[in-house]
Amino acid sequence: MPILDRIADLTPEITAWRHDLHAHPELQYDVHRTAGIVAEKLRAFGCDEVVTGIGRTGVVGVIRGRSHGSNRAIGLRADMDALPIQEVRDLPYRSTVPGKMHACGHDGHTAMLLGAAKYLAETRDFDGSAVLIFQPAEEGGGGGEAMVQDGMMERFGVETVYGLHNIPNQPLGTFAIRPGPIMASTDRFTITVEGRGGHAALPQAAIDTVLVASHIVVALQSIVARAVDPLDSAVVSVCAVDAGEAFNVLPQTAELRGTMRALTPAVRELMRTRLQMIVQNVAAAFGATVQIDFASGYPATENHPAETDFMADVAAQIVGPEKVDRAVAPMMAAEDFSYMLAHRPGAYIFMGNGPSAGLHHPEYDFNDSAIPYGASLWARIIETGLPIRD
Ligand SMILES: [Zn+2]
Ligand SMILES: [Zn+2]
Repeated sequence: MPILDRIADLTPEITAWRHDLHAHPELQYDVHRTAGIVAEKLRAFGCDEVVTGIGRTGVVGVIRGRSHGSNRAIGLRADMDALPIQEVRDLPYRSTVPGKMHACGHDGHTAMLLGAAKYLAETRDFDGSAVLIFQPAEEGGGGGEAMVQDGMMERFGVETVYGLHNIPNQPLGTFAIRPGPIMASTDRFTITVEGRGGHAALPQAAIDTVLVASHIVVALQSIVARAVDPLDSAVVSVCAVDAGEAFNVLPQTAELRGTMRALTPAVRELMRTRLQMIVQNVAAAFGATVQIDFASGYPATENHPAETDFMADVAAQIVGPEKVDRAVAPMMAAEDFSYMLAHRPGAYIFMGNGPSAGLHHPEYDFNDSAIPYGASLWARIIETGLPIRD
C-alpha cells in the first residue's frame, strides 16, 4: 500500500499548517501558541480526549477506534519546539520572530501528526486507542521526560510508542531504522582549572592554567582513541576554552566546556570515569587543581527489536521494502524520545528530507514533499498495530 489516498488529499491542508507553525517558532517549553493550535485542531477533528499541560506545555489527543474489543493503545510522538537561530532564507512563510526558527523540522513533525490525527478521527478503522503525543522542549529541555514524569504513559494506557525524525540528504520517500541504539546519550562537562596567576615573563612563579588546560584538551582525546573499544562509538568534544585576557598575564583560572556522546550505558560510564581520572591527574602533574561538573543529558535512544521490525514493516507498506534501510548507522546526536523508549517498548525511525541544508543550519527547511510519507506512516502504524478482528 503506498501513500494513503485520503492523506494525499489532506496534504495541501497539512502543508498550510506546517507553514503557519514555521512562521511562528517558539522555544523550549514556551510553545503556548503551537500547543494551543494543536489542541484546538485535535478538538475540531473530534478526538475523544484532548489534554493540555502535560509536561508543562505538552498536549495529548486520544482517538478511539470504531471497534472497542481491546483496551490496547499505541503512542505516536511529535516534537513542537524551534531553535534560537536566525533564519536566512526568504521563504514566503519565513519566521516572523527574529532569532528563532524551525531549523530541526519540528514544524513538519507536528503538522504530520496532526494530519494523521485528522485522518484517524475520520476513519477510526482500528480497535483500541491512538494516543497522539505533542511534546515541548526536545531541543535540550527534556520535554519528553517531563511528559513521562507527569504520568502520561499510565494515564493514557500507552503500551508501545513510536517517534520519527526527518533527515536532510536522506532521499525523499525513504525510511531508515535499526534495532538497538539509534541516537547517542549526551553529557555536558565543565572543567575549571585553578593554578597561580602571574607575570607572563616570570612563569617559574606561576602555575600556568592555559598550559594545563591545553594538556587536558589533548589528553581527553585519548578516551576515544585508547579507552573505548574501537568497535564501540564515542565522541568527546571540548567546545569552549575560556582563559585570560592580556598578552602578558598568566591567568589564575581556565575553564573548558564540552560534551560526551555514547551509544551504551557502559561506554557512557567509562567515559565519565576516564575523564575524571585524566583531568585530575593531568592537573596534579602541573601542580594545579580542578573542579569537574557534569550535567547528564539525554540517554541513548534505544530501539526495541520487535517494535523496530514492526515499524520497518509498516514503512515498507508505504514506500516499498527497498526504500527501508533496516540497519542504518546510528547518529551521535541525542534525542529526548529516549525517555519514552526507556519507559515503553517502541521505535524511532529516520525519514528522508531529500537534499537540504543540515539540521540546525540557518538555511534548513523541512521538505513538504515528505508530509504524505510521514503522515501515512503514522496512520498505518495505528491501523496495522491495532487491527479490527471479527
Ligand atoms: Zn534539533
Ligand atoms: Zn529535531
